[in-house]
Amino acid sequence: MDNSCLFCRIVAGEIPATVVHRTETTLAFRDIDPKAPTHVLVIPVEHHADVVALATANPSAAADVLATAAAVAEAEGLTGDGFRVIFNTGAHGGQEVFHVHAHVVGGAPLGPMLA
Ligand code: ADP
Repeated sequence: MDNSCLFCRIVAGEIPATVVHRTETTLAFRDIDPKAPTHVLVIPVEHHADVVALATANPSAAADVLATAAAVAEAEGLTGDGFRVIFNTGAHGGQEVFHVHAHVVGGAPLGPMLA
């Protein structure tokens, strides 16, 4: 755990979040500033800065994040009409919180990604 990391503090229960799914290795909670009707963040409980660091250090945890993202999409009723799973990565990717997270977004047509 990194005490200066917002999402590690959510994992530790020090900062409240609306948790929608939890496994031994992952946590899924609602984004505080949703960009779509459904917007859930899925993180590994273990701290890794971004998806490259996660996939390199712990590929099995990376797979767990994807499995939880799929379970969340199913539970939120997104799989019929479709949805997005996004890993913003680094400065050009628009990443602001450096604990890797998958955005699971859907519930309405999202439009072209690179408009
Ligand atoms: P961006 O803000 O460009 O999407 P990131 O990909 O790093 O950057 O996403 C960080 C996400 O974390 C944002 O969607 C933001 O709304 C969300 N967020 C920030 N603080 C919290 C919090 N305390 N609880 C839930 N979500 C949060």
